[in-house]
Amino acid sequence: MVKHTSKEEILRLLDQVFDPEIPTLTIREMGMLRGVEISEEGKVTIRFTPTYSGCPATDLIKVDIKAVLQENGIEAFEIIDVLSPPWTTDDFTEEARKKLRDNGIAPPVQATSDKSFVLDSPKTVPCPYCQSENTELLSNFGTTACKALYRCKSCLQPFDYFKCH
Ligand SMILES: [Zn+2]
Repeated sequence: MVKHTSKEEILRLLDQVFDPEIPTLTIREMGMLRGVEISEEGKVTIRFTPTYSGCPATDLIKVDIKAVLQENGIEAFEIIDVLSPPWTTDDFTEEARKKLRDNGIAPPVQATSDKSFVLDSPKTVPCPYCQSENTELLSNFGTTACKALYRCKSCLQPFDYFKCH
């Protein structure tokens, strides 16, 4: 028997799925959720865009999506990868950027046209604590593979820069 559900309920359940890289952000806030559809028969289709292919967090997120749906009695669903158009840092919501800064993580530098960013070395990553642009890269790998470790030369705080793109 297919449990009848609504799109609103699915979205509410998916708001319990957080990005393992940034546990304060939901996949919707990350811009990874491209759509939810429910067919006449009650089958749920979730369109999902990974932040970048090869990000180790992607598989974990799908496991979490399955778990939260099944725990709530929803068995008829499929998760479709949407790879085009690809996720970019522009998919980040303003809310997500603010939450990152509140957690001491510098959000991705918003400049998809900035080629230096594409080459993984943004010119300046502003400090999430004091907004100073006087920062330096300490390590290309921070607490997880998707983050780089920076230090602010103004307030001397080390911070993570979220570099997934
Ligand atoms: Zn600072």
